[in-house]
Amino acid sequence: MPSAPTPASAQTACKSLDDWNEPTYARHIYGNTWYVGTCGISVVLIATPAGHVLIDSAPEKASATVRQNILSLGVNLNDIKTILLTHEHHDHMGGVASMQIATGAKVLSRSNVVDVLKSGKNDSRDPQFEELGGFAPISNVYAFDDNSAIKIGHTQIQHIPMAGHAPGGSGWTWQECEKRICKNIVFADSLGSISDNLYLYSAPGSLANALKESSERLAKTPCDILITGHGTASDLLTRLDGAKPLVDTQACVNYAQAGALRLEDRLKKEMLK
Ligand SMILES: [Zn+2]
Repeated sequence: MPSAPTPASAQTACKSLDDWNEPTYARHIYGNTWYVGTCGISVVLIATPAGHVLIDSAPEKASATVRQNILSLGVNLNDIKTILLTHEHHDHMGGVASMQIATGAKVLSRSNVVDVLKSGKNDSRDPQFEELGGFAPISNVYAFDDNSAIKIGHTQIQHIPMAGHAPGGSGWTWQECEKRICKNIVFADSLGSISDNLYLYSAPGSLANALKESSERLAKTPCDILITGHGTASDLLTRLDGAKPLVDTQACVNYAQAGALRLEDRLKKEMLK
């Protein structure tokens, strides 16, 4: 099982917590869960004796950094058997194709975006369709049922449907224990109602309702440790480095409410156009 990286492998602290590609060292989150992402993008490793799970990959440009972070924990890349995603935007998953080649892991996806992942092309249903960069096509993608639990040995990673920012948006929650003190970890998807210049959240058939429901679902999820894809949305690295409390049972509620309020604002602005 993984162990904390040696100081020799630790790189300097981040210059920018918004930088998708800037390298930073791996960090322990809780139990068998580790942060292996960059300064600006979260990638999470859940270690289990039955095979490790990776959630997201960061952009393709950051692939080497993420792999280095995983190796710094003493983890063999080919012990990563499963890759899960928060959503199909290249800043979070552009490196999945190369990570899959390096690990041999299968990618599990919501059924509504399997074809998007395989194609590497932007999804025309996506609010940012006109502006997104594509990503390397991913093979070996299997659909799971929304709301199901991914079972890896004794570990259960529960899916939380979180469409709204993107059509395939997914949150994930699982429990980790240290000395019999167990915590619910929640890797929440983005709740940002941002788009290209054409998309309207107020248009019929938009992702507005889905986003609202995603916020409500997240707010109801038992949550001790919140992880967000862009760490700044939850001060993640600051918390992991001990400058703020890691555990905050209100964090998911607050994050969900902030997302719902931003959507309301956005809808009001669209009405004034
Ligand atoms: Zn996104």
